[in-house]
Amino acid sequence: MRRITLPRIGTHSAWREAARGLLAEGVAPSDVLWSTDPTECDLFAAPAPAPAKGQISVPRSFADLASDAVWHSDPQRFARLYALLVRVAEKPVLMTDRGDAEIARLQGMAKAVRRCAHKMTAFVRFREVSPPDASRRSFVAWFEPTHHTLEPTSTFFARRFGDMDWSILTPDINAHFRDGTVSFAPGQPRPPLPEDATEDLWRTYFANIFNPARLRIQAMQSEMPKKYWHNMPEADLIPGLIAGAGAKVQQMRAAAPTLAPAFAANAQNMVAERPLPVTDPDILSAQMNACTRCPIHANATQAVPGEGPLSAPLMIVGEQPGDAEDLAGRSFVGPAGQLFDRIAAEAGLDRKAAFVTNAVKHFKFRPSGKRRLHQTPNAHEIQHCRWWLDLERKLVQPQLLLALGGTAAEALTGSRKDLMQRRGRIEETQDGLPVFLTVHPSYLLRLSDPVQRSEETDRFRDDLRAANSLLSKLIG
Ligand code: URA
Repeated sequence: MRRITLPRIGTHSAWREAARGLLAEGVAPSDVLWSTDPTECDLFAAPAPAPAKGQISVPRSFADLASDAVWHSDPQRFARLYALLVRVAEKPVLMTDRGDAEIARLQGMAKAVRRCAHKMTAFVRFREVSPPDASRRSFVAWFEPTHHTLEPTSTFFARRFGDMDWSILTPDINAHFRDGTVSFAPGQPRPPLPEDATEDLWRTYFANIFNPARLRIQAMQSEMPKKYWHNMPEADLIPGLIAGAGAKVQQMRAAAPTLAPAFAANAQNMVAERPLPVTDPDILSAQMNACTRCPIHANATQAVPGEGPLSAPLMIVGEQPGDAEDLAGRSFVGPAGQLFDRIAAEAGLDRKAAFVTNAVKHFKFRPSGKRRLHQTPNAHEIQHCRWWLDLERKLVQPQLLLALGGTAAEALTGSRKDLMQRRGRIEETQDGLPVFLTVHPSYLLRLSDPVQRSEETDRFRDDLRAANSLLSKLIG
């Protein structure tokens, strides 16, 4: 049996050296007893590793795992790591085995160490102990980490607080930073710590940044676990802040302005009373063509306005002009439009009596060689183009809207919910106009299975028939 005693300080490199030596000698994990020496006199004692002969290489993932897990408080951590090292040295690919229980366990330990180190960097609270007239300010903090994380986090504190001297005291070891150098010493029980003048300032700051309207107690306690509270000056404020949060939110609500400011009321009146900016479709299409509200305009040939009688009781709304429509400057003249015309005629719906338009007025596409491939407009583009669609609606004042496809449904009803679940239904615009929802004819064009295409074409025809009979009822 080999007994390896690792020092409290420099434990990681000592374990690594010892493990390499043992591995080189072929010592089985069951033949090693690992420990750390708790006595002060052996604090800096080097372990007695068998000297390693030659190079031992292990996967980087093992080295990373060991460099975290070695700081865990589990006394078995050295033995577990060595047992894994022996297996990995034989079969390096083992580290990629997600089902290996021992690797999973050590990864859990490494994660716990990283979390503990993170909490330590966040929750160490220094108190000033500068002697009068000292050239550098000095601070001291007491902390009780769950794992042995002071040594690995000391570099963080040295970087972060390099302009002062500090000591972090823990029951296990102490770290002292003097004139730019970190040194370690044995730990100790909690010493009496001096009052710190900056603590009141810190508590005031904490109370002021606490937002009762965003209070989530569970998330807060998971972020700042209670076990750290007793060393944090702000912690005794927390129960009171939580208890008073409800009342504070009420107060904030009560203090919020309840009446719209005068200018907002004026603006609302102006919008409500404003006459339609354009009543001439030619002027409307010229303005639409000059629209730069969203980036799509930059690549399109022209904006494509709606067309049809201005007295039409039915407005048919598609998605956006396609390649053919972009070139022709007219809606629904390409393959999808031709298919729509045919099925609409079969359903008894007269396209010429309807006003036919699109939710988005410019063609959005992606170039691919000589082709321009359709791209679906996003929510912002749909939202920007609603301005033009609303103007067309005001101009035509239809009694029924027929939405073809998800983009039109979104533009008219404001809902992005799955169209397939809603097709055939009648929903409403925000201002209460009925919207009949169905699929876009290009959906039928994309179906490659002839049976499915024929079934879907029948369903689409039925939808158009239903929309048409609803229209007849609406116009009496
Ligand atoms: N698809 C549409 O949505 N609109 C058109 O105008 C053409 C194709």
